[in-house]
Amino acid sequence: MKRLMIDIDDTICTDGIFKLTNDFLDEDMKLEKSKSYYIQDHIPKDRLDDFHDYFFHHNVYDYSELKEDAVEVIEKLSHEYEIFIVSSYLLKGESKRSPLLVPRKHEWLLKTLPFIDPTHFVFTSSKHIIDCDIKIDDLVKNLQGNASLKLLFTSFHNEEYSDEELEKEGIRRVNSWKEIEKILLNQENNR
Ligand SMILES: [Mg+2]
Repeated sequence: MKRLMIDIDDTICTDGIFKLTNDFLDEDMKLEKSKSYYIQDHIPKDRLDDFHDYFFHHNVYDYSELKEDAVEVIEKLSHEYEIFIVSSYLLKGESKRSPLLVPRKHEWLLKTLPFIDPTHFVFTSSKHIIDCDIKIDDLVKNLQGNASLKLLFTSFHNEEYSDEELEKEGIRRVNSWKEIEKILLNQENNR
């Protein structure tokens, strides 16, 4: 059975941090108006502490929405692949309170993907050390390493990568879980 690494935020669900950041920001500073992934690039330095207080006071998964077909497709994939859910919990610049995100992620996974064994939950920012055959993530840097198939889930912050640029890194862009299902379950990929 091939090993499959799947990211959580902005891959299985919309990343609630974007919603919380937008709620916190002024109307003219919405995240979609920038292409940067990191919230620190959007929030004025003198408001960053306030933002972190605001962020940790809320459970980010109450502000996330499942991506269409995600759970159904992952459930089907779980019969054909050994799935590992690999998610970072470190908020840039706020490593002290970041571990608060681990129980929130764990609880959300138990509820959302009850068919995945919790021993297959991995919380790390160093995804390049994860030895999986296939990786699915919305961050290019998380697809580094020696996977034979690397799928980049489209998000506003990675739209600027052209197919040619991604191809050089051995990465293929996907726009939906139905597309992933087609690639991974319809023999396009020999499993
Ligand atoms: Mg992500």
